[in-house]
Amino acid sequence: MKKITNSVYSYLDVTPGTEGNVLYANTGIVIGKDGIIIIDTLASTKEAEKFFADIRKVTDKPVKYVINTHHHPDHAYGNSFFADMGVPIISQVQSREELLFSGETLLKNPNMLGFSSDFFQGTRIVPANIVFEKAMAIDLGGITVKLIYSNLHSHAKGSIIVHIPEEDVLFTADILVTNTHPFVMDGNIQEWIKTIDTIMPMNVKNIIPGHGPLSTNKDLENMKNYLSIFDEQSKKLSATEKNLEKLTAMMLEVLPKYEGGDDVVKFNLSMLYPSLAT
Ligand SMILES: [Zn+2]
Repeated sequence: MKKITNSVYSYLDVTPGTEGNVLYANTGIVIGKDGIIIIDTLASTKEAEKFFADIRKVTDKPVKYVINTHHHPDHAYGNSFFADMGVPIISQVQSREELLFSGETLLKNPNMLGFSSDFFQGTRIVPANIVFEKAMAIDLGGITVKLIYSNLHSHAKGSIIVHIPEEDVLFTADILVTNTHPFVMDGNIQEWIKTIDTIMPMNVKNIIPGHGPLSTNKDLENMKNYLSIFDEQSKKLSATEKNLEKLTAMMLEVLPKYEGGDDVVKFNLSMLYPSLAT
């Protein structure tokens, strides 16, 4: 984990496929006088266990809460590891419902995510036992952690951001991903762009995206641009191109270029346009 400020550590810019964090999510911690808060739990109980070992290299303070920024596997499927330690889990209320709705199906079908059959061994779906609607603040002893829901369906239903004002740090989770293709299939692109418009005026110095390197408002602007292109071009090109491989190749021509991750674009298109021929 990388030290972002005195009280915030996070994984950053993880290489896709890394053992212990295969979906390269930027999970992190905030350290207060009284204990720590963990932001997201990675994709399985095994990944969470390794994450916790990395946390213990940085601090031995007790874990007060786990926060789920949204319900996707790489952010919430490590919950059971921390629940077994007795740690309360917090999420936005819709995010809890989404995890309950899709969790068991994905857990039983790891191949849907390209994982091996034993990937989820020992993993259980554990939804939040503390939920909120709009916002919540936690006093961690000398440091405040603010959980904020935009009231809009952005990257996923109930996606939140986590702001630590005293440290000038913001965890956006997948509302922002930097230098990599986003998963858009659970999103609402128009409301996602509006959500980013509410984040940019916060002018936070250290923005930790859901995936990718430490970011700034410039990256939020690029994200809006990506989403606009994806929305406009996928609608336009899918009207005439009905083959998934060919449509993916056409979209990769018009989208910003990133190293790898082309399969994410294909996955997004296959989920958004299930009638495409493969
Ligand atoms: Zn996500």
